[in-house]
Amino acid sequence: MSNAIDKTRYLAGVQCLRRLYLLVHQPEFATKTDAAGETIIEQGHEIGMLARRLFRGGITVNEDDVDLAIRRTRELLADPNVSAIFEGTFRNGGVLVRVDILHRRGDGRWRMIEVKSTTEVKDHHLEDVAIQYRVLSRSGVDLASACVAHVNRGYVYSGGDIDVWRFFRIRNVTRIVQSLQPKLTFQLRAEWTVLGMPTAPDLPHGRHCTDPITCEFYDRCNPQRPDDHISCLPRLHANAIEELEQMGVESIHDVPDDFELTEIQRRAATCVQTGQPWFDREGLKKALGGLEHPLYFADFETVNPAIPKFGGMKPYDQLPFQWSVHVVRESGADPEHLEYVATDTRDTRREFTSSLCRVLGDRGSIVVYSTFESQRLAELARWLPEYAERIDAIQVRLFDLLPVVREHTYHPAYTGSFSIKSVLPALVPEMTYEDMEVSNGRDAGLAWQALVRGGLSQTQHESIMKALLDYCGRDTSGLLRICEALNRSNE
Ligand code: SF4
Repeated sequence: MSNAIDKTRYLAGVQCLRRLYLLVHQPEFATKTDAAGETIIEQGHEIGMLARRLFRGGITVNEDDVDLAIRRTRELLADPNVSAIFEGTFRNGGVLVRVDILHRRGDGRWRMIEVKSTTEVKDHHLEDVAIQYRVLSRSGVDLASACVAHVNRGYVYSGGDIDVWRFFRIRNVTRIVQSLQPKLTFQLRAEWTVLGMPTAPDLPHGRHCTDPITCEFYDRCNPQRPDDHISCLPRLHANAIEELEQMGVESIHDVPDDFELTEIQRRAATCVQTGQPWFDREGLKKALGGLEHPLYFADFETVNPAIPKFGGMKPYDQLPFQWSVHVVRESGADPEHLEYVATDTRDTRREFTSSLCRVLGDRGSIVVYSTFESQRLAELARWLPEYAERIDAIQVRLFDLLPVVREHTYHPAYTGSFSIKSVLPALVPEMTYEDMEVSNGRDAGLAWQALVRGGLSQTQHESIMKALLDYCGRDTSGLLRICEALNRSNE
């Protein structure tokens, strides 16, 4: 496509002109799309296909060759029997766009619809629609309106076919994209200029490198930061980082004593400066003193499909597919490990819940890390009212260890994060996630989807199953070991 600008390139340039240049002239420097990225692309494609059901009878422009696609689009526009066109292709002034949906209204004018898999319209979506609006209106299409169809998070699936008119929300953004046109002319001029330069413009990195999306050249422009970098203070706002950088402060060691920080951030700064961890012994004793045996440590794994799979689910609801529980029945006893993984695409919410309720019994504390498990249990109670009472009784026994760690400890090796992935190796150095095939929740979801999709050899199936069990089991044995480490810090 040489230097021509398409929608993707235009939007890359809106984010950063250096990104546009690299994308066109040095794409080999981009970080390759990983499995999670592929899944997001696949999900976007699924949503796009679903949106076509809004306009049954619509015709898709399938031609890969741009000139043929443009010619075919023209033919379809001219045919009054065509009610909707998918992937209509247009080029004007060196800018090429493919439009998700063009719908012919009753009065013969056209409605342009951009389909998004998000649950709301975001600012960069408007730029996206604006460039299409420019090209189409300059190509002679009689556009009545420009819209965004996005996912309706409030839609509740009741089984059978998805009700597409409820699943999508269509927002008319015509006025907004019209008002963006003058700015767009300047932006395009800047993009053409940058594309004609002999080398990439030397632009500073900053917040725009991850907003609205993480740039594929992030690693090239943003050098790896040392563990004492100011961004390793917990939840330090981007404005505060900018302020410190303007003062020439990059290391936590140099943060002035009078610089405004929260209590937790100041504590973290002191730990990094002294190289010593901090444990609030009294606070820990009080917080952990109420834990009762049998002592359970629980963790769930989930996927959150955009298109709900089972009755009662909404788009992007979390569907639990795996749990792991370690239990210490009495003080000093060896821990037992129990676990569950759904192994096919059936609705296994009942199986998940009944096996979990059975294992957790009716007494003892259940240690979790964050409110994630509690939220999933609340959803399961809503989907399966017959378990609501038992789930409510479990909710009462949950003990969230995360706020305890956050309020009563800090270790320089947390590097600003209280996630279990940072806290566990800091407090229990022999336990990390580094050696694991699956080492985070996102990868667990991807691995599970590959497992239930089928078509795997016996060896592949066993290997994925083992990786999933190892990972979720590591989370709960890790929770147990963190509790032990915190108790030891009290001795
Ligand atoms: S990483 Fe940042 S500065 Fe570098 S190209 Fe991407 S957006 Fe631009």
